[in-house]
Amino acid sequence: MARLVVVSNRVPQPRQRLPQAGGLAVVLADAVKSGSLWFGWSGKCAPATATAATLQEAGGVTYATIDLGETDHRLFYTGFGNGALWPMLLFRLGLINFRPEEYAGYRAVNRAYARALAPLLQPDDLIWVHDYLLIPLAEELRALGVDNRIGFFLHTPFVPPAILSALPRAAELLGSLCAYDVVGFQTRGYLAAFKDCVTQVLNVEVPNIQSPNGQADETVCFSHGGRRVRAIVDPVGIDADAFSRVAQRAVGSPETRRLAASLDGRALAIGVDRLDYAKGLPNRVEAFGRLFEQHPEHRRQVSFLQVAAPSREDIGDYQSLRRQLDRLVGDVNGRYSDADWTPLRYMTRPLGRRTLAGFYRLARVGVVTPLRDGMNLVAKEFIAAQDPLDPGVLILSRFAGAADDMAGALIVNPFDADEVAEAMHAALSMREEERKARHEALHAQVRRTTANRFCEVFLAQLQRTPRHGGIGHPA
Ligand code: ADP
Repeated sequence: MARLVVVSNRVPQPRQRLPQAGGLAVVLADAVKSGSLWFGWSGKCAPATATAATLQEAGGVTYATIDLGETDHRLFYTGFGNGALWPMLLFRLGLINFRPEEYAGYRAVNRAYARALAPLLQPDDLIWVHDYLLIPLAEELRALGVDNRIGFFLHTPFVPPAILSALPRAAELLGSLCAYDVVGFQTRGYLAAFKDCVTQVLNVEVPNIQSPNGQADETVCFSHGGRRVRAIVDPVGIDADAFSRVAQRAVGSPETRRLAASLDGRALAIGVDRLDYAKGLPNRVEAFGRLFEQHPEHRRQVSFLQVAAPSREDIGDYQSLRRQLDRLVGDVNGRYSDADWTPLRYMTRPLGRRTLAGFYRLARVGVVTPLRDGMNLVAKEFIAAQDPLDPGVLILSRFAGAADDMAGALIVNPFDADEVAEAMHAALSMREEERKARHEALHAQVRRTTANRFCEVFLAQLQRTPRHGGIGHPA
């Protein structure tokens, strides 16, 4: 069995494998198995970017990390990565802030990663690179003569050509993606958008593959730059059974009991997100205000807990989002609170997994209303955490990748505050029978598309790619 080399921008400290808020961190905690090498940024900045990785062993995993120079980190992460590429991939063209020197820094850091990683590689290693910050990595590795099988998984959405083209140099990035043997996406829709971009932006002919059930393709193969690329659909998931067990146990924990006691018999609605403009938090708070306005019977009967973990705090758009939320939450609370009831409880810090699981289980409604989201694991965690005998109801944005196979949720347009308020009303009023039926279907789906299955599907595809993946080899 070939060794697996996982590459992600951020590698946690070994032993201190506490999940950070963020889907990628949570998925990788499950994906990186004993015997693997995990390469990426140490999380530390130094005066200059390191040229060689520092190695540490823990639990059978080798952690190989490099420190980044402060300027490199700013150009790569705060600059191009999250100030230009992220808003484009999340359909927020107005927030794209493109600076050529930041793009150069983004590519330079990918080059530095490749140089530090290449000496650690063995000929048969399968290399699996994660997410938008590392798109050029395979191209940089190839330039150093690495001909291992290299796969890439994009955790964000993928966009249609008209959106992609708004980002300067995006065509170049699309070309860089073609240095991978396998490129994975969360949904069929993203794969179809990728296919359109390859066809229209790179002018590459991509044959149609007829899928047996008449649905959109699940695999797309084409040749570009002397290489064969296979693009696939492989949705990320969670270890649903393990999460259910954690939630069951967490019900008795002091934190969950304190929360339950504080509700004083009222229903709990919960939202859990990184503080990111893609998560639609202002719209969600507004929708809650609308619920109390249009359905006054819910006043004093429900409390909404929003847990928002700060994210990318050195970027201006994230700072203004935080200020906007402080104001909006204060506004709704000022308007509807009573002396002994606050409609919105708002925490800007991460919670531990166990506490989170217990809180989900206590909630009658899970509110997951991103304006765009690659997948959204919170939706899956909420379902896994419920008590099947008295489950809560999931409200889910149609613009989350998760909506593709979670039709049992109340699917909403997050931009429509009235529609979201009506879904909240429907969820709070839903009879037990319907709650159970919806939960049963959703739970079965969440148990099918697990984190393990996600890894197995991707690695099986990568493994079946011939080495030296140039044209002429069978696909
Ligand atoms: P994203 O990757 O964009 O952050 P996901 O919903 O896919 O979105 O993943 C978020 C992950 O981070 C989930 O596993 C969730 O439990 C965790 N998370 C998000 N916010 C918090 C928080 N405030 N405290 C603890 N964990 C959080």
